[in-house]
Amino acid sequence: MRLLKQSRRVLQLHPHLLKFDFLKGHGLRYASFLHQEAYIGGKWVSASSGKTFTVANPANGKVIGHVPDMAEEDTQAAIDSAYEAFQSWKRTTAKERSILLRKWYDLMEAHKDDLALILTAEAGKPLAEARGEIGYGSSFLEWFAEEAKRIYGEVVPSPASSKEMIFIREPIGVVSLITPWNFPNAMITRKAGAALASGCTCVIKPAEDTPLSALAIADLAEKAGIPPGVVNVVTASRPNTPAVGNLLCTSPKVAGVSFTGSSAVGKLLYRLCSTGIKKIGLELGGNAPFIVFNSADLNKAIEGFLVAKFRNAGQTCISANRIYVQSGIYDQFLAACKEAISKRLVIGDGFSKEVNVGPLINQSQINKVEGLVNDSVKMGAELVLGGKRHDLGGLFFEPTILTQVSAEMPCIREEIFGPVAAIQKFETEEEVLAMANACPHGLAGYFFSQDISQVWRVARRLETGMIGINEGLISAAEAAFGGIKESGIGREGSRHGVDDYTHIKYLCMGGIN
Ligand code: ADP
Repeated sequence: MRLLKQSRRVLQLHPHLLKFDFLKGHGLRYASFLHQEAYIGGKWVSASSGKTFTVANPANGKVIGHVPDMAEEDTQAAIDSAYEAFQSWKRTTAKERSILLRKWYDLMEAHKDDLALILTAEAGKPLAEARGEIGYGSSFLEWFAEEAKRIYGEVVPSPASSKEMIFIREPIGVVSLITPWNFPNAMITRKAGAALASGCTCVIKPAEDTPLSALAIADLAEKAGIPPGVVNVVTASRPNTPAVGNLLCTSPKVAGVSFTGSSAVGKLLYRLCSTGIKKIGLELGGNAPFIVFNSADLNKAIEGFLVAKFRNAGQTCISANRIYVQSGIYDQFLAACKEAISKRLVIGDGFSKEVNVGPLINQSQINKVEGLVNDSVKMGAELVLGGKRHDLGGLFFEPTILTQVSAEMPCIREEIFGPVAAIQKFETEEEVLAMANACPHGLAGYFFSQDISQVWRVARRLETGMIGINEGLISAAEAAFGGIKESGIGREGSRHGVDDYTHIKYLCMGGIN
């Protein structure tokens, strides 16, 4: 009731919020964190050019908001305000930062239902999944509220009796956080939580498809009492993004960059960061192998497959991409997959209760998935299920199974980022490890086996940064998330999550008698 009154009052004060009537009927209780302005230096601002770009619901194409289309000048203002705020934020105690992060977490938890509605509206993911993401996202704030107090230094035994040697950890400074559309909430909190815990201030550049979740998070940061300039959000359209990104990576006032997104953009930002020797964390594309050995528990493998392949309609960087099934279990697995997909996956608007597979995010994504399936079929892949745009139209694609696939086909070579399972039969452990590792990427991998020796052998030899063993859902704030090879550098979450945001300063105290 109190919330209802509050949101009525907010609507009276800010009639522009009524534009968000896309959430009417979905039970939005508290509209004040829906913003159509960016957040710089503690103020809600338009682009200096006055330009905006639209945000649309991928489930129906309807415009749900307009946000500032910012350019270099606005980005510079955000960097300046983060730089200024850093001068005092870095001097706060770990406990003070911890308390603010905890308040931010509490607010996210208090508003999780509303945040989930915004997320479903702009990213299309089913509401239950959106709620899951909000819980996952807020858990990073909780985790880093705790970790803030445990960023310890070291006292090292000195080789000389006249000297004492101490390492202290310091925040690196202003960090640029560039995030993708597939986890519009959690990819921001995972970075910003670690940055703020470390004593850094940040400029967040959310993906152009999903800025409303980012602005809602910033609103809650403001309400939590996080000082102006510590968290800034710059929104920009795709055409403006390269200029904004360039400044975020090259400004002398920026100390580091953390990016989650495509490999192509990651490589570009890595190059840009090299000019100023910035610290950089990269979490890039995956192309995850998913291996089912003869000894696997079939039911567990199917459950793992459904979640690792179809969560967020296959649009996660740790989605199962290359599915390898040993010959002894292949027929059973394929039959069970078909049945599970046909009976359990319901496609549609994420706001419908029974739906568990939403639309793809945008036109270019569905074109890519469609092209990848068609090209693989032309090269000899067999279509077992689905294979085309869904009758619902728009951005919906049918859950698809391809078999008779091989290494040179695009469905194996590339990260699919869609609800398409490319399944390949194999004979031996040696053979499947060679195939799984013959890939420039190494983010997540999955395998199912009940043979304990095989579990250890394969876990050690699979070339990925993370492995789900008899498990399809591996993400958690407690986990060290990150890849090897071209999948990135650095780890997010866990106690290692603060490493990208801190440096070690060595103090040598001499002249000790
Ligand atoms: P996808 O292709 O899946 O959309 P991207 O890597 O293009 O993934 O997007 C991830 C994030 O990177 C988004 O916030 C996007 O705006 C941003 N981005 C894209 N191109 C650039 C660039 N040239 N400089 C900085 N950021 C960029």
